[in-house]
Formats: sequence, structure tokens, C-alpha cells
Amino acid sequence: MTRPAAAEQVDELRRAGLYRRMRLIEGAQGPRVSLDGRDVLLLCSNNSLGLAEHPEVRLAGAEAYRDICASAGASRLVSGNMDVHERLEGRLASFHRQEAALLFGSGYLANTGTIAALARRGEVVYSDALNHASIVDGCRLAGAETFIYRHRDVEHLGWALKRADRPAALIVSDGLFSMDGDVAPLAWLVELARRHDARLMIDEAHAVGTFGPSGQGTIAAAGLSDEVDVTSGTLGKSLGSYGAYVATSAELRDLLVNRARPLIFSTGLPPAVAAAAEAALGIIEREPHRVEQLRENGETLRSALAAEGLEGIAGEGADPGTQIIPLVIGDPERAVAACARALEQGVYAQAIRPPTVPEGTSRLRMTVMASHEPEDLRRAASVIAAAVRAVAADGEYSIEIPEPEGEPEVYRVAPEPASRAPRS
Ligand code: PMP
Repeated sequence: MTRPAAAEQVDELRRAGLYRRMRLIEGAQGPRVSLDGRDVLLLCSNNSLGLAEHPEVRLAGAEAYRDICASAGASRLVSGNMDVHERLEGRLASFHRQEAALLFGSGYLANTGTIAALARRGEVVYSDALNHASIVDGCRLAGAETFIYRHRDVEHLGWALKRADRPAALIVSDGLFSMDGDVAPLAWLVELARRHDARLMIDEAHAVGTFGPSGQGTIAAAGLSDEVDVTSGTLGKSLGSYGAYVATSAELRDLLVNRARPLIFSTGLPPAVAAAAEAALGIIEREPHRVEQLRENGETLRSALAAEGLEGIAGEGADPGTQIIPLVIGDPERAVAACARALEQGVYAQAIRPPTVPEGTSRLRMTVMASHEPEDLRRAASVIAAAVRAVAADGEYSIEIPEPEGEPEVYRVAPEPASRAPRS
């Protein structure tokens, strides 16, 4: 069988309404940007606190470039481990009230590398159905099997843990879910991990700097900092830079240094991005009002949308104050059309489609920033409402989120490299 040409594959995506392209931002990131040549309100950035453009953050990066060097030059296990890395790790560890932290090249690498390092063949990883793709891919990379439990469904998870005939390596969940803006049932996850002797890993990518006391995340907000084994976080969202980390015990850090392949086989972070992130962390610690402003802005947009008759997904774990506000439209082409209409009116809220979200739940996913003006958010709500109504099937926005069809997946076996011996 011949492989379809690239253009044919792209056409297939187009026909399914799933074609993606990159839009161009000229100049800096901020609450308003120049997009494809037009000034628009940016409603889909994870630069939640506006620190990517903060003068102190930029200066810290610039000074590191000028005074230190541009590259770490090697893996940190060879000669690329630098004092800027270890200093930032110390700051991140204390931010999360953990013994230690370990930097990675990105959140994607932190999650894939950590899960693959901590889960071994003959064990099971338990993963929430709406976890981020980097967690999904980490599970695929790990030699272990993966059980995908229904979103936030601790009964389903508990049932599977009890039924399993092999040890649990890890329970892994987003803390604040990236596409729905709801929060993991952390106390239950802690309890189930304890009962079944599994490690618990929580991805705080969207919660650091945005959620809970002083932006310390969902775990700190639940008072569970001592109960979670591994917290992953990124430097590329509210921390305004690039790269990522896990915060954990000294013992697990040591294991990851020896086992996490994206750390071992990849160049250390450039000093400048570490320095910029460290400056951003300092601002978050010093100026908690930014986190409060973000929360207020989230509430402003949510209530303005509600006044227009639009409700974001408000599942059980939905938090009324998070920066993530999804409006499910269902069909991918309609979601793209709604995005285009809002953009014509100067509001950019990206359409999110499968495989980022489940089939039938394409959406406009809005994210507010602390640096947005409340008046802009109120205007955006009416623009978005008009756009969503214009594309809704009957002119009314009222979308039932479909239940997944069929029985839940039970054991999904991670693909194994052909060179490995089959499991007995
Ligand atoms: N985890 C979650 C929940 C995310 O949303 C993302 C990025 N969208 C990542 C991890 C990956 O982080 P990074 O962008 O640093 O690779």
C-alpha cells in the first residue's frame, strides 16, 4: 500500500474540519496583540499574569544573555548544569513546599519523561480521561499499561485500582484541567493513591501563578502539599518564560536525574530562560494582587457571558474563578466559524477541536489574563455571544455535551517497541 501524499493527508484534515494553521503575532505578547496585521483582544493565551512582557522578567533574561552565556552547552549530566538552574530549582521547590525540583526543557518533556521514568513494565498508570496530551504520551512511552478513568470519576478509578492484578505505579491528573477549567478531586486521589500504594502525580501547568493562595496551585489550595509525590509545572505559561519542572522529594529527584530521558539526553535550559522564570516567580511571590486580579477578570468575563445567556462548561469540579472559560459548540467547523466571526470583531478566542478535546466537544476556549481591562472583557462577551449564536444550529446556543459512546476503555496497553520481549 502506498503512503498518501502529505497534501492528501492535509486535505483529509480539512474535510473533517480539523485543519490547523498558525496565526502570526507581530511584536510582543500582551492582553492585546497585533494578529495577522490587526489589533485584537487576546483571549487565548496562557500568559495569565502578563509576566511574559513584564520589564523585570525581560531584563532578567537580557542580563543573563549579556553576562552569562546563551546556552548551557550540554546535557546537565555532562557539563550543562549551571548555578542558574540550581538556584531556580531551589526557588520552585520552596514555592511548592517540596524538598526539591528538577528542570526540564518543557512541560511536554517533564510529563513524558517523568511518567516514563516512574512507571515500569508490569505496573499500571491510572490517568484521567481529560489529561493533557503530554501525560497521554508519557503513558504511551512508559512500558506500563494505562488505565484511563472517566474524567474526575474517583469511583471508576477506585474500581479499577481494586480490580487490577498488577501493582499501581502512578495515578496522574491535571490539577486544573486545561480545556475545561475544572479541578481534580485531589483529596480522593490522595486517598486512593495511599490505599493502593501508588505514587500521585499532579500537573499544575495551568494552576501555578493562577490558582489558590498566592497562585501556589490546586494542591496548595487543598492543603495537600505533603501528600502529592510529584508536581509538574511549566515556566511557559504564567511564569512568562519557557521550560518546565517537577517539584518532588530529594529521593525522587535523584531517581529522575538517573532515569528521565528528556533530562539525560537533552541540553540544559538556556540560562536566560531560567533567569526570566526566576524573576517572574519573585513577582508572583511579591505581588499576590496579580493573582487576585486574574480571578476577578475570570469572574467578570464569566458573568458577562452569563448575562448574554451563555454558560461555560460548569461540571461538578468547575471553579467559578479560574482563567479558563470554555464554551462548547460541538461541531469543529462551527467552532472555527465562531472563532473567525469573533476575530472579525477584534476578539481572538481560539477554536479547540479534537484531538485536543473529545469528539463532539469542539469549543471556543477563552482564557483571561490579569492584564485584561474589565471593559474589554465585557465587550468581548457580547462579541463572543453574537458569534456563537450566529453559528449555532438553530441560532440558539444550548449544547448538550455528548456522553462518550460504548463501554469505558479498561486496559489500554501501551505500544511496546518491537525489540522488547512480549509480556508474559
Ligand atoms: N500540561 C498541561 C496541562 C498543559 O496545558 C501544557 C501546555 N499546553 C503542558 C503540560 C505542556 O507545557 P509546555 O508548554 O511547557 O510544554
